[in-house]
Amino acid sequence: MEQSSLIKPVLGGAYPTISHGQGVFLYDKNGKDYLDASSGAVTANIGHGVQEIIEAMVKQAKQVSFVYRSQFTSDAAEKLAGKIAELTKGGLTYSFFVNSGSEATETALKIAIQHWQEKGKPKKQKIISRWMSYHGITMGALSMSGHPIRRERFTPLLESYPSVSPPYCYRCPLQLDQHTCGMACASELEASIRRIGSENIAAFIAEPVIGAAGGAIVPPDGYFQKLKKICEENDILFIADEVMTGFGRTGKMLASEYWDVEPDIVTLGKGMSGGYTPIAAAVMTKNVMEPMMKGSKSIIGGHTLSANPLSCAVSLAVLEYVERNELVEKSADRGNYLIRGLKKLAGKYSFIGDIRGKGLLIGVEFVLDKATKDPFPKDADVTNQIIELGMRNGILLYPAAAGLDGVTGAAIIISPPLTISEEDCAELLMRVDITFGQFNESIGKRSSQ
Ligand code: PMP
Repeated sequence: MEQSSLIKPVLGGAYPTISHGQGVFLYDKNGKDYLDASSGAVTANIGHGVQEIIEAMVKQAKQVSFVYRSQFTSDAAEKLAGKIAELTKGGLTYSFFVNSGSEATETALKIAIQHWQEKGKPKKQKIISRWMSYHGITMGALSMSGHPIRRERFTPLLESYPSVSPPYCYRCPLQLDQHTCGMACASELEASIRRIGSENIAAFIAEPVIGAAGGAIVPPDGYFQKLKKICEENDILFIADEVMTGFGRTGKMLASEYWDVEPDIVTLGKGMSGGYTPIAAAVMTKNVMEPMMKGSKSIIGGHTLSANPLSCAVSLAVLEYVERNELVEKSADRGNYLIRGLKKLAGKYSFIGDIRGKGLLIGVEFVLDKATKDPFPKDADVTNQIIELGMRNGILLYPAAAGLDGVTGAAIIISPPLTISEEDCAELLMRVDITFGQFNESIGKRSSQ
């Protein structure tokens, strides 16, 4: 049957058609099982087919699925905002609900600009972000993203937002040594602000752990504290994009907790509903919200389906599930287990250059040569080769963009649902080992030709 759903074809032309999912496994229509070691796009945080989420969904759908946000609020939306404030601490008391991570970061951008307008500083319009970042596919979000492959075709249409270097210590973009660099990449923010003028800058946005653009890149301790201080000193809001890292993915409720920094705005998505329904949010502190309450009395943003009760009820049920089943702690624990197992594989395969991450957001970067860290050539398309081999072996892995620009290394993300058992972690490592073994054989064959 021809596939006309416009999903990019892999495996020589066609995607398998999904039949159903249960726990950490997905099954296609031919009965083949796939261990969901990526949670889709780092989304299915509580696994598939969880009965109580389905029940919450049905219960809400029986009451009402949709109301328009400027006509009604709902118990589901109010309780969800309350739950987010409770779980994230840090005074993140106001949630603006949208439907995707891209919409959330785009909304955060607009909230930051509006915040300063209401405070009589309308020139503060620029957003500083980092190169090697991904904040979404819509134009505003893409303008803030340092993601060459996704920007390439649209570059003339994008806002020229300034960017600073990422804390990619494995291959420092500034060619410095991690132990003596004094975190020069963080100091770049200060230099950038001086050049542009803080009177023109609304916010700085960053992913606490860099996801899709780099493959679970964790900054050194002290890095985010330094950035936050620079933001405070210059009247610039700090937006933490926790769309991928939020709600336990990294072993903390929010990844920014690792460094004790309290963002002014946090964007959330993905694991917020575990993929059961589309929902995301830009969440802010009272300090950010107050000028808008006094001024326009509304946030200029929103979408038709924003805060629909069905998605809100599902998200609330997912977050309660995360809390009740202590999945944040489990994520930290299982993450350590997997990192230990992957490090063993690194001893076996010379093409594994770096293993990094926090909790169940783990990156594996591939190299031609471990000692020199030479990356594979771009046309080797290593990331996609490994993903495809994995799929054949019944394991779903997530491609990080690194490697496709021919400068950085190729990398994948391993990010199973936070519900994964130790037994399934062992199965995951076994399937990864088989996949890496086949890749090793294929590069061995190529080099001996
Ligand atoms: N921010 C981050 C950190 C992300 O990882 C993503 C998605 N990969 C987005 C924003 C965009 O989210 P969505 O795909 O739901 O629009």
